[in-house]
Order: sequence, then C-alpha cells, then structure tokens
Amino acid sequence: MQKVKVYYSSARSKIWNYDHSMPGKLEELLSQIDLSKYISPKDKVAVKTHFGSQGAFRIVRPVFLRKIVEAVKALKAKPFITDTTRIESLEYLEVAAYNGLTHLTCGAPVIIADGIKGMDATPVKVEGHKHISEISVANAIYHADAMIVVSHFKGHLQAGFGGAIKNIGMGGVSPKTHDGKSNRGLLHSVDDKLPAWDKNKCNWCRRCEDICPVEAIRIEPKVSFELTDDMCWRCGRCARICKEKALDMPITSERLNTHIIEASKAVMSTFKPKKVIFINFMIEMQPECDCMPTADVPVVNDQGIAVSDDPVAVDQACIDIVAKAGPLPNSLASDLDVTEPGDTFGAVNKKSTKLSLEIGEKMGLGTREYELVTIKKKNK
Ligand code: SF4
Ligand code: SF4
Repeated sequence: MQKVKVYYSSARSKIWNYDHSMPGKLEELLSQIDLSKYISPKDKVAVKTHFGSQGAFRIVRPVFLRKIVEAVKALKAKPFITDTTRIESLEYLEVAAYNGLTHLTCGAPVIIADGIKGMDATPVKVEGHKHISEISVANAIYHADAMIVVSHFKGHLQAGFGGAIKNIGMGGVSPKTHDGKSNRGLLHSVDDKLPAWDKNKCNWCRRCEDICPVEAIRIEPKVSFELTDDMCWRCGRCARICKEKALDMPITSERLNTHIIEASKAVMSTFKPKKVIFINFMIEMQPECDCMPTADVPVVNDQGIAVSDDPVAVDQACIDIVAKAGPLPNSLASDLDVTEPGDTFGAVNKKSTKLSLEIGEKMGLGTREYELVTIKKKNK
C-alpha cells in the first residue's frame, strides 16, 4: 500500500535569501501538496488555528496564515481564519487581535467558529464510537466546504502533545451544545463530571479562580469554595494548574485520547473526502497548550513545517522529527533532567505521546505510516 506523504521543510535557513526562509518554504509546501486537489473555486475555506491567550503568544504567526490565505484566494475560494471559543467569544477576538490576528494582517476575516456564546454548533454522530456517541461541531467549521488545519505543534499537560489531531478534536467542537448543555467538557471528563475539590489539600491560593475562563469558581479564602455547575465548561484547566492537587478531574490518558479521536472523527465527517489539509508548525515548541495564560520557553529547538492530508501521519511525523532533536537547556526539559534526544514532550508532561496516534490509527482517523518528502527551498 502506498504510504501517505508528509511534506516537510526544516526551520533552518542557511542561505540569506527569501526562497530559503520559512515563509518562502511554506509557499513551496503549499504548491507541492497542490491545494487545487482539495479546494475548488467559491469554496468557503476554514483556516482553523488557535488564537492563543494574552500571555500565550507563541501561536502560528500572521505571516504564515497570510501565505495560506493568499494560496486559497489564488484558487478563487473564500478563506476565513477561525477558532472555537476558549474564553468568552468577544474577549477571545480581542485576544486574537492582541496576538496579531486581524483581517488586515491575515488577509481574511477572523471569526469565532461557534458564535458569541460558544453554542452555535450542530450535533454530529460519531461513527464507531466507544464513549462519545454525539458531539456538537462548531457551525463555521460544520458549514465550511474545505478546511486547512493550521496547528502550533507543542506539548500538552493532559494529552502529552498538541498538534493536528487535538486542533480538530478539541478545537473543532463548541464548549456548549446549541441548547446549552456541556459539550467540549465531555472530552476532558468522564461522564461530564465536575472537577472534585478537596478542602484538606487546598491552600486557598486562588489560582484556579484566576484561570477559569468563565468565572465558574468563586473563592472566599478559608471560608468558601464554590463551583457553579451550569457555568463550568469542564475544561479541566483549574485541575491542571492546581499544584496542591486539591482539584481533580479524574480521566485516564487512554480515555481522554479516545474522546479526542472520537470528536476528531465527528469533525472530519462533516467534510467530503479530500477537503481537509493539515499544516503543523514546529516552532516555539513550549511545553503546554496555547490556551494557558502564559507560555514557557520552548523545550525543543524550532524544527520546521509539516503538511499532509492525514492528521495522524502529520502528527506522527512531527513526533518523530522532535525525537531526533535534543531538549533545550534552561527550559522545563532541563529543569526535569530531560537532556537526551527522544520523546521530550512525553517526558516533560509525563504522558504517552503514542496513545493518541495509536488510537487514531485504530479508530480509522488516519495512518502512522508515512513517507517524508523534504522540501529545501521555494522553487521559482
Ligand atoms: S488552585 Fe488548588 S490550592 Fe489553589 S485555591 Fe484552587 S483548589 Fe485551592
Ligand atoms: S473545569 Fe475548572 S477552569 Fe474549566 S470551566 Fe470548570 S471550573 Fe472553570
């Protein structure tokens, strides 16, 4: 069987010429993959990325998004830059602008995929599901004709790493269903349970209250801790950052990754075959998700860009490329004595980075077998 192609270009630029730059090489990658095979004139094309947070600024830069937008426009299709609600939508659009993502910089409208309340979504059945039978896909993605999934490849405290799969699975679904029920939280938790609070472990630092995107936690130190059920998105951020382990959202890595794959399959099922492309940027690879309120220094040097029409293959290729790169000094990696090349994200987050790829392959989302096609420069 023919292996899936993953087109790759290194971040190194040894010749002082635009054709050897990352934007130049991105143009070449887009031409090698031949976007016209995926995008037709008049298609509405979602360019799905992550807007970051006010403190997590290491997102995919507008210069790259603009190159992608230009390539889509050259095919007479209609691109828009989008992400689903991570904090209140209107605030999240402000964050996008702080981080440089505007119509002016990207060359296309920047919109929230699931509306001003994170509820504009359509329920989609998950074929071959194990746990989640239905999930609501954000409408701007649901109604798009084609999608280019632009992912900042990096670590992730809960899933081990974040790349193409996580960008569609977590990032393609809304926090709430159209009738206000919990939706994205179904992925982070088992049976939609709230985080459990242990008074005996809590030191009342209030970091959980501060990080909650929807102000679902109210604390009066040493007096009361309140978590409002119908406000909570079950995003798990509070539990992830609680150093005392006073908040807990128990879920195994296997279960979490299965949920993400199930949601990814639902998102992919809203497109006709060969209408979705994945572009992973292995730059500024920090240890945690871009939705956290800050970004630590990268744990691995910039490695470049990988492009494929298979989300499992492109993520597997990035994991393999990162495995050959040594962890960086003066980073979380060296703090944790991770000094040898290998599975740096797995080691710093103490999670398996293989699980989502193995489950993704088993559940038919894509393949881990790929052929790496290396592009050295932009050809005229
Ligand atoms: S972050 Fe943890 S320790 Fe701090 S107030 Fe919240 S539950 Fe308590
Ligand atoms: S899981 Fe925690 S951080 Fe997330 S919405 Fe609920 S209370 Fe807030």
